[in-house]
Amino acid sequence: MRTCSLCGKKKKTVPLDMEDPVFGAYVRLMRKLKLSKHSGDLGICKNCMKMYLLMKRTHNSKIVLYSVAAAISAIVYFYFTGNIFFSIIIGIFIVSWSVFSYCPPLR
Ligand SMILES: [Zn+2]
Repeated sequence: MRTCSLCGKKKKTVPLDMEDPVFGAYVRLMRKLKLSKHSGDLGICKNCMKMYLLMKRTHNSKIVLYSVAAAISAIVYFYFTGNIFFSIIIGIFIVSWSVFSYCPPLR
């Protein structure tokens, strides 16, 4: 028995893979930035699994959106300034913001 990281109820939970290159890195980053409210291992109960998978899918589509926004901003910036270096920086900056929208309740 463990506390579900989403609903907070004590239930049988499926542990989340902290070694996952995306999810594990996300959780570690959030903890480093002190944006995390969880400290131990994360687990999801059966009831919340559907919501978790939905959030994951939503985030995947958000990454695409952010990437498009980043590309457009970089191109526009380059068009007006001709500075390729800062165009790339701006692009990376915008894409990195998508990280913060990854499963907020699991921070
Ligand atoms: Zn739950």
